Amino acid sequence: MSTMAKRKKSVSGELALIARLRAKAGTLSGRRIRLGIGDDCAILRAPRGHELLVTTDFSLEGRHFRRAWHTSQSVGHRTLARGLSDIAAMGGRPLAAFLSLALPRAVARDTRWIDGFFEGLLALAEESNVPLAGGDTAEAPGDEVLTDIVLIGSAPAGHALTRSGARPGDEIYCTGALGGAAAELAALARAPGKFRRAQAGDAHPHLFPQPRLAVGQALLRRRLASACIDVSDGLSTDLAHLCEASGVAAELDAALLPAHPLTAALAPAKQMAAVLHGGEDYELLFTAQPEVKVPRSLAGVPIARIGRVARYNKSRPRMTILAEGTRFELQPRGWEHLR
Ligand SMILES: [Mg+2]
Repeated sequence: MSTMAKRKKSVSGELALIARLRAKAGTLSGRRIRLGIGDDCAILRAPRGHELLVTTDFSLEGRHFRRAWHTSQSVGHRTLARGLSDIAAMGGRPLAAFLSLALPRAVARDTRWIDGFFEGLLALAEESNVPLAGGDTAEAPGDEVLTDIVLIGSAPAGHALTRSGARPGDEIYCTGALGGAAAELAALARAPGKFRRAQAGDAHPHLFPQPRLAVGQALLRRRLASACIDVSDGLSTDLAHLCEASGVAAELDAALLPAHPLTAALAPAKQMAAVLHGGEDYELLFTAQPEVKVPRSLAGVPIARIGRVARYNKSRPRMTILAEGTRFELQPRGWEHLR
């Protein structure tokens, strides 16, 4: 833990928070951690023959969550899920997580909120077998909770999945279902009180997204995928990233897209928008060479073929979608942050 922030806040407050963090995280010491929380740095052992993967993700109140809408368990879970999903997208194994937490004074004193936050974060950490190996706390300058998660992972040297390996003729696949997080967020905005008792699990794609670590690892181990990305910003945006990185175009088929059952509650015009552009589903979007046999499910998660990679031609749209017999241009529309 850095001591930088201590001058600005009550030292005893931060020490108490660190003590809680250490007590909670201490139960999760991985054999990859030679030295965890309590020194100036953690010391990690990288597995032999592996490369390290590093990713960092903000979760900012007002942008990614609201304390009035999200329970602290959900905020903790989502903070870690964002980082784990990036490790999943590369086919990696998480080695350790590092958390930076800036709390407004009132929240720093709210032990129920803090306990809930760590409960949510550490439950997912335990499930994903990743120790929380360090972090930093500070008093937030404003009234918003700000968190940042750093994930260190590993993948066999030279074999991590990347966005840039898709080639014309490859098939396009995605895991699970799409649009569920956007649909649940819409329901949450209407009636946050209904979700106060929501628990982690597949039923809550927005509040408790399930990063697809086991699927990503299976794709890597079985050499199934030519390229992979996680769907954090929405199918249309993340597919655009993959296409740009690979220098290819994509042709989707609307009839093949796996709409999450929660999208049925949306107005018909909004259902397809949630599937195509709704963010934070944290599913994996990947491509595979046409001769590769991709199973219908991996690690218990359904896999859907949703389209095909095509040659990119500057004079034609990068992405198209076939809907009711007509092919339309598909624009990356991403997801809108909370307002
Ligand atoms: Mg990502």
